[in-house]
Amino acid sequence: MKIAVCVKEVPAGSSRRVIDPATLRLRRDGDCELNMFDANALEEGLRLLEALGSGELMALSLGPSRAGRSLRRCLALGATRAVLVSDEAAAGSDLVATTAVLGRLLEREQPDLILFGQQAEDSDGGLLYAAVADRLRLPAISKAGQLKLADGKLQAWRSTEDGRELVQLPLPAVVAVSRAANEPRQPSLKGSIEARKRPLEECSLAELGLDPGLTGERGSRTVVRALSVPQLARSRERFEGDAAAAAEHVLAFLTARGALET
Ligand SMILES: Cc1cc2nc3c(=O)[nH]c(=O)nc-3n(C[C@H](O)[C@H](O)[C@H](O)COP(=O)(O)OP(=O)(O)OC[C@H]3O[C@@H](n4cnc5c(N)ncnc54)[C@H](O)[C@@H]3O)c2cc1C
Repeated sequence: MKIAVCVKEVPAGSSRRVIDPATLRLRRDGDCELNMFDANALEEGLRLLEALGSGELMALSLGPSRAGRSLRRCLALGATRAVLVSDEAAAGSDLVATTAVLGRLLEREQPDLILFGQQAEDSDGGLLYAAVADRLRLPAISKAGQLKLADGKLQAWRSTEDGRELVQLPLPAVVAVSRAANEPRQPSLKGSIEARKRPLEECSLAELGLDPGLTGERGSRTVVRALSVPQLARSRERFEGDAAAAAEHVLAFLTARGALET
């Protein structure tokens, strides 16, 4: 069984998101980390392989060479291979251009199962899994919980508004794993040390035999015309005094604004 987990490196949660005014793109040169939702996809893949007792789990990403750090984390967590497609010509890829690259890499690798996180923390599209499945003409589901293999097919629990449903898919298939599917493991010290020595496979668009005109800005028909940060009206009141007086003050403050009315 060969499982591919698509992972994205995103600006670290604590760092402020900054938009480059010239390109209207998110600046990604600050602190970055593995998209937290991808840890759930990786965990589900690792559990499947552990249940099978053998197999390969490759983590793959499209991003700048710095994104290798997130792939190393995947290796530390148990991925058997890590592949990074890094090419200047792919910078500025929109959804469809991103699928051109990932789709080509997945065609080359021929995994039995392709896992995605439920969304990327930075762009929140939650759509890439479906666009890749469409390009590869594979069956796909989203919001998958626990995954299981039975009679060569994949079974997945999905949470719905009214309860849960059990879905079965033939392989190969594409699955977006829900944040609620599992509690991802942490890398062990041994795993982290070994991951540093393991090779990280990097490939360019040319190595994938991909026309650069299909990716990056040239291959993206979506144009971001404007971006703005919502203006929140914030007011602040500072009160100094002992705890009991402060509590009285907060109570009066909330009552005056109708916040305590039932
Ligand atoms: C004009 C334009 C320019 C853009 N330029 C850039 C850019 O330069 N850099 C950039 O990162 N984004 C760029 N984007 C956003 C880019 O289109 C999205 O990152 C991409 O479509 C994936 O969508 P998402 O990030 O919302 O991921 P979602 O659809 O929310 O992602 C779900 C899952 O897909 C997987 N995934 C997402 N991205 C990757 C990836 N790169 N490699 C492997 N797996 C992945 C992960 O498993 C993730 O959990 C641009 C968008 C537009 C419209």
